[in-house]
Amino acid sequence: MFEENEDPEQEVGPDTPEEASLADDAASGLACSDCGVYFVEAHGYPVLCSACWDLSTEADRKEAGVQLATHEPVE
Ligand SMILES: [Zn+2]
Repeated sequence: MFEENEDPEQEVGPDTPEEASLADDAASGLACSDCGVYFVEAHGYPVLCSACWDLSTEADRKEAGVQLATHEPVE
């Protein structure tokens, strides 16, 4: 006799913990919203690193609600 083992902790959302974590980090400005590079400090708002900033258009930035990162990326 088996009981169905339902896991109440099961979450729906991004497929992998890595994706979930990067999404959180991008939202908090700890990582670039585009390429995912990490910064030495969180900005507190979504940002693009300078490389992605140069490649993006003003419309892209407005749509994504991102600003130019002011902290250095982690090497
Ligand atoms: Zn970037």
